[in-house]
Amino acid sequence: MKVGIFGGTFDPIHNGHLRVAEEIGESFSLEKIYFVPVSIPPHKSNRKISDVEDRLAMVRLAIKGNSRFTSSDIEARRGGVSYSLDTIQVMEKKFKELYYLIGVDAFSEIDTWHRYKDLFYHTNFIVMVRPNHKGRSGLMMFPTGVRKYMKRLDDGIYEHGSGRKVCLQFVTQLDISATRIRASVNGGKSIRYLVPSTVEKYIKERKLYQ
Ligand code: ATP
Repeated sequence: MKVGIFGGTFDPIHNGHLRVAEEIGESFSLEKIYFVPVSIPPHKSNRKISDVEDRLAMVRLAIKGNSRFTSSDIEARRGGVSYSLDTIQVMEKKFKELYYLIGVDAFSEIDTWHRYKDLFYHTNFIVMVRPNHKGRSGLMMFPTGVRKYMKRLDDGIYEHGSGRKVCLQFVTQLDISATRIRASVNGGKSIRYLVPSTVEKYIKERKLYQ
């Protein structure tokens, strides 16, 4: 089975996340995409993050009705700081072909991730690129620690020495961020059309971000 993993804080999940997952699922013919809310993100600990149960509940509401989308509470259950490598190693036992979805900005900092070099032995990556992306391109996109193991196979397709692939994919990046959504809620402003209506309702009912 060919599956994608989409990790994130998802505080809250929004239409920007859903749209890119939809496009990637279609382009790569992924049978499932697992949305995996992190328990405690290693990189974002200087603000109060909503309870992982609330973030997971919003993910579940948001993906309802899309048969390709599913969620996993693997990091929520594990608790503590979430490391993608741990999740990937569990998932690779279950599924033949794994694709880790990651934005190009996050990918350019992947050398700050826990045991980042090992990641390239356990999963393929789909690096989501905005059409107007201005950052590094080609092999220069890879951190120096892994660059020497990467080989260009085709336009936007690279192979690691392990046989795992890194594929660049252009996506529609909607200009939506969870940060702005939280600020809008806090300021009493509407978040309609930025998140699914079920998520909007959940935020109201649970009085999140106030
Ligand atoms: P925050 O504003 O709190 O930093 P966020 O909106 O960036 O949150 P995350 O949960 O941190 O959301 O994102 C999870 C993943 O989704 C990351 O890889 C991020 O690059 C990607 N992402 C976030 N917003 C968008 C968007 N509008 N379009 C496409 N991808 C996005």
